[in-house]
Amino acid sequence: MSNRSLPTEYRTGTALPTQQLFVHGVPADATSGETFATLDPATNDPICEVQHAGEADVDRAVASAREAFGAWSAMPAVERARVLRRAVDILRARNDELAALETLDTGKPIQETQAVDVATGADVLEYYAGLAQTLHGDHFDLPPDAFAIVRREPLGVVGAIGAWNYPIQIALWKSAPALVCGNTMVFKPAELTPLTALKLAEIYTEAGLPPGVFNVVQGDARTGRLLTHHPGIAKVTLTGEAGTGKAVMADAAKTLKHVTFELGGKSPLIVFADADQEAAVSAALAANFYSGGEVCTNGTRVFVERAVYDDFVSALGPRVQTMRVGDPFDPATQVGALISRDHLAKVKRYVDAARASNATHVIGGDVPNDPALARGNFIMPAVFADCTDDMAFVREEIFGPVMAVLPFATEDEVLARANATDFGLAGAVFTRDFARAHRVANALQAGTVWINDYNVTPPEVPFGGYKQSGLGRENGLQTIEAFTQLKTIYANLGRFEGPY
Ligand code: NDP
Repeated sequence: MSNRSLPTEYRTGTALPTQQLFVHGVPADATSGETFATLDPATNDPICEVQHAGEADVDRAVASAREAFGAWSAMPAVERARVLRRAVDILRARNDELAALETLDTGKPIQETQAVDVATGADVLEYYAGLAQTLHGDHFDLPPDAFAIVRREPLGVVGAIGAWNYPIQIALWKSAPALVCGNTMVFKPAELTPLTALKLAEIYTEAGLPPGVFNVVQGDARTGRLLTHHPGIAKVTLTGEAGTGKAVMADAAKTLKHVTFELGGKSPLIVFADADQEAAVSAALAANFYSGGEVCTNGTRVFVERAVYDDFVSALGPRVQTMRVGDPFDPATQVGALISRDHLAKVKRYVDAARASNATHVIGGDVPNDPALARGNFIMPAVFADCTDDMAFVREEIFGPVMAVLPFATEDEVLARANATDFGLAGAVFTRDFARAHRVANALQAGTVWINDYNVTPPEVPFGGYKQSGLGRENGLQTIEAFTQLKTIYANLGRFEGPY
């Protein structure tokens, strides 16, 4: 891409040096001897090589995390919180630099990464740092002469495995609650987006995090499996596809690790005739095309009540027409590049299938004809109307910019259809009818339901999936449960009287 506004340090060609692992507070060479390239999705040029962590490297990272666990878990909560808060300040101060690196590695528009990716990660870290001094156990009086205390203790070393769509945000959403509870972590980013987790490790170190509390190992699913099998790891937290969740759960079962999963989705966005239609159209666009559609919670099944259906569909085309697809580093770009050639090919297959179906092609789905974009993984946002529930592109997670619009007649009907999926990550209802909004929200089988909104995830609110969209929650107080275990200490103040 010729006239890119890429920051000098990230210009392809002037490329970054080979990236190492991050173990025990410092960058560390992998011993595997293997490297892999991470590519710029806008051009498919290599950004840099990255060292691949093999078994000895994962062992070393886990040993470092185990060594660090004793002192970190024993540190007064206020001191742990201070370190994490300093990291929040550094993240915010370096927002634009980190956003640029994220845009380079993911292909997402700079206007998004500057506003969302680092900020929403830092917000979650700030939230958990604030909770540090509220973490506590419990006490039970057991008259006449006993009591019990319940200690809340960390689990140990957490193995965390990230997806490629929100790399630094995922690393923060996982490390923030884990570390505040006194655990240590070995984090494996997705092979496609290895860069910002290393920056986070540097930032944690600069903030005063002791060596070994947050380590980064790089690599593909093989490295992930080394974590899920490792006997020194107490818990695995994964963000990824439902199929990966099943594989990780089976592997983690061999050593009975705790697991939490944030997995895929095919969420419904339900628009009733009484809703603010312009707002509903805006929401449908945001719920399908933000981050190029590479968002787990996206409302990819847009159900619209028949009375407003034709107007709704007619409004979509002109709005999509004005969306700017292009160089992710151009501040005006609204839809950047998809993560990889393989992923683009997968999205195209779904678009082709949709075009070959009885659905009505409203707009998009072609590769842009701008020669400057020819080498990158670009596709125009696509809308299909008159879809039916049985179409594969309506049932399966595409994870790209493909919206399916489906008409409905009644509330009962749309609820049954919206819930007829193995996924249950999120959903939304647009209506001005207060009672209906809550009836629908209660009936939707999903971990998050938005009323007249979409894709808002404040740190204090639990986030996660029903059914095959996940296990456990991220964010909110509940996550503390997932990163701690309870120890009951029973104290007898009397004399032990044996039964024999
Ligand atoms: P994948 O499931 O392909 O990969 C997720 C991570 O798991 C990667 O780091 C991957 O390594 C690793 N991995 C893959 N197989 C194994 C295995 N057998 N054992 C251990 N680790 C393994 O997901 P994607 O990266 O493609 O991300 C997209 C998916 O993530 C979508 O389904 C999306 O919905 C979901 N997602 C869910 C979110 C949520 O919060 N619910 C948020 C964001 C995304 P590698 O890729 O390096 O090979």
